[in-house]
Amino acid sequence: MSDPPLVEVAVARPAPRTFTYRTPPEMVAPGETTLPPGARVEAPLGRSRVRGVVLGPGTFSGDAGALKPLLSRPEDPLPALPADLLSLGRWVAAETVCSLGLALDAMAPPAGSASARKLLCARITAEGIARLAEPDATPAAARLSGDDRRILTLLALSEGAVPLVRIRGELELPRGRSFSRLARESFLDIRRESAGLAPPPAPKQRSAPPELNREQRTAADALRAALASREFGGFLLHGVTGSGKTEVYLDAVAAALDQGRSALLLVPEIALTLEMERLVRSRFGTRVAVFHSGLTAKQRREAFWRVRKGEARVALGARSAVFAPVRQLGLVVLDEEHDAAYGQDEAPRYHARRAAWFRARAAGAVLVLGSATPSLEATRAAQTGALRRLRLTRRVGGRPLAAVELVDMRPVLRERRGPRPAVLSPLLAAGLREAIAAGRQALVLLNRRGYRARIVCLRCGEVASCERCALALSLHRRGRLAVCHGCGRGTPPPGFCPGCGGDVLRAEGVGTERLQEAVAEILPDARVERFDRDTTRAAGERARLLRAFRRGEIEVLVGTQMIAKGLDFPGVALVGVVAADAGLGFPDFRAAERTFQLLTQVAGRAGRGEVGGRSVVQTLNPEHYAVRAASDQDYAAFAQTEMELRERLGYPPFARLTFVTTTAPTPPLAEREGRELAEFLLERLAPRGVEVLGPAPAPPGPGKAIHRRQILLRAPPARQRIVRRWLHRLLGDPVLARRTAIHADP
Ligand code: ADP
Ligand code: ZN
Repeated sequence: MSDPPLVEVAVARPAPRTFTYRTPPEMVAPGETTLPPGARVEAPLGRSRVRGVVLGPGTFSGDAGALKPLLSRPEDPLPALPADLLSLGRWVAAETVCSLGLALDAMAPPAGSASARKLLCARITAEGIARLAEPDATPAAARLSGDDRRILTLLALSEGAVPLVRIRGELELPRGRSFSRLARESFLDIRRESAGLAPPPAPKQRSAPPELNREQRTAADALRAALASREFGGFLLHGVTGSGKTEVYLDAVAAALDQGRSALLLVPEIALTLEMERLVRSRFGTRVAVFHSGLTAKQRREAFWRVRKGEARVALGARSAVFAPVRQLGLVVLDEEHDAAYGQDEAPRYHARRAAWFRARAAGAVLVLGSATPSLEATRAAQTGALRRLRLTRRVGGRPLAAVELVDMRPVLRERRGPRPAVLSPLLAAGLREAIAAGRQALVLLNRRGYRARIVCLRCGEVASCERCALALSLHRRGRLAVCHGCGRGTPPPGFCPGCGGDVLRAEGVGTERLQEAVAEILPDARVERFDRDTTRAAGERARLLRAFRRGEIEVLVGTQMIAKGLDFPGVALVGVVAADAGLGFPDFRAAERTFQLLTQVAGRAGRGEVGGRSVVQTLNPEHYAVRAASDQDYAAFAQTEMELRERLGYPPFARLTFVTTTAPTPPLAEREGRELAEFLLERLAPRGVEVLGPAPAPPGPGKAIHRRQILLRAPPARQRIVRRWLHRLLGDPVLARRTAIHADP
């Protein structure tokens, strides 16, 4: 008997190429002649063992005996990745300039042997808190490394036990980073805890869909017609908040299922997954599989295989659900398509909107991008005819949109009596009292965590800042730490000024912790809880807070933008925004767009029940076009101004941006490498109409090689191919590949 043929394998490494291996005969199942494309394997690479995916037959011109054999093959019931996902993987790799192996690895079911429905979670101990409270410089026996300090800080700020996967993700820790040393030194406790995200029990009775109103019917019929054609069709469902977009999606899901096809439903946040899951399961029963990072490896694996085997025909989840291996894809929905959470920060740095678009087109499926505040990219696509626009202009049941009242905080600040400016304007304070007295609920948004935003020396004016990131340190009450929101390091609050030695320091500016206190002060009898990254990190906390708010056990929820996202709470009469402009100061060309979206979305949380709602927005920039347009709830006015600006300045959607970041252990090295890279790119890309800007200093990264320089490539959309081709060639050099990160803007 001859040996099975050679196979070509994409390995889960930044390696720019694929590898050919021998297949040990015992690895080929009865009835197979070789390993099928899409099969997962483990392969030797150098001296290590790596995960990989079989692409097809391998070729080798020399003596095949010199090739290494594959090491093992997991017991999968089918090749893990079907053909359409292999081609999606090729597209992701090309688009995001990452290796094919890493792109495919992100699509495969999670590896690992975790068997329980429980997640490994960590909790800080009293020793850990005491250790953090010692200044970094003291020669304590156990010196904390930078990452140790970041891990302990994160736990000190959190309530309860935090899943290790979440700590790794939030702090961008290296894959192999272990927590056992910190546990051995008793700084933290590790144990398995229930994930708290167990699927809701299957409802006994299916709920019937409500009768769609005229606008919903028109939109739904357009989607049904496109599905019936069995050809690709792209739609922008632009519907004001509370206009019932979800029912339009569900109608399309029903139509796709009737055709024997499958549907992907994407939402930007885990919290929204829970809401949508409840709804979808009650409508379609158990044919639903859920994907998001809050699940255990076992839960994700089960969801993967249920979809892969065709047992579940609806896949629902956050960003990564765009890779769910559903059969006969008919429909892809991106709810809240404008949301920044659809972009991923680690390789492969794909954007779910573009991946969904590619996948729908390849499958001849219908793509629906839904939003009350469409991204400029989606609006531009609707203007050029790449997407068909469907409009829902009214709220369900004729409910009015919440009235938005702007409060100019400049006079409020000037009139302050005490030494500190007021957190809540008289209008917002009165509104809160009124809403609670009427037995209703309120949301108050401030996009900044912690207690105080900065610590200032009253003698010389210096602001205490992070040594690494040069960002102002925020004072956190929980944990009693001065924390850098860039790198996550917390240190004891300084006792004197690092600049002049003065000992009169004052913490200024308001964060959600202080806001919660201020709201509780004016509403002494109300239950006021906080909903931000710090209070929702622990397993199950996010779901618990949302459940309690839905049941009315919490009257006021204070939080960051997390509370602005798509949640439907009928009891909310008032939404307050404490600093509408907090985001406008960021040096980001999307700052105005994000501010407009945030204000419109958060106002959209009010008045969704039987009784009307209002929104009070405090701002220092009442004339800014984004703030004005949001208060008028006028998307068209905002989009027109912003679109003109983007076109004039050459920003997306009129150009594609790609950020190339180099990392080095010292500033001079970073400077040199940045300059060399910029010259290389300039020489090759500038003649082809691509602008090369930089290198400019970039915020430091995690780990040791923290000094970064960033180069910005700006290309007309049609030239983006050339940019990608050169970047792929660049990453063909393994040394460059290791120290360069590429981030293509959507
Ligand atoms: P959007 O996503 O557009 O902000 P939702 O989809 O959350 O709005 O819908 C708002 C509310 O209206 C939800 O509570 C939903 O159940 C309800 N709803 C939607 N369509 C209808 C309808 N045709 N009849 C009655 N209620 C509806
Ligand atoms: Zn920092």
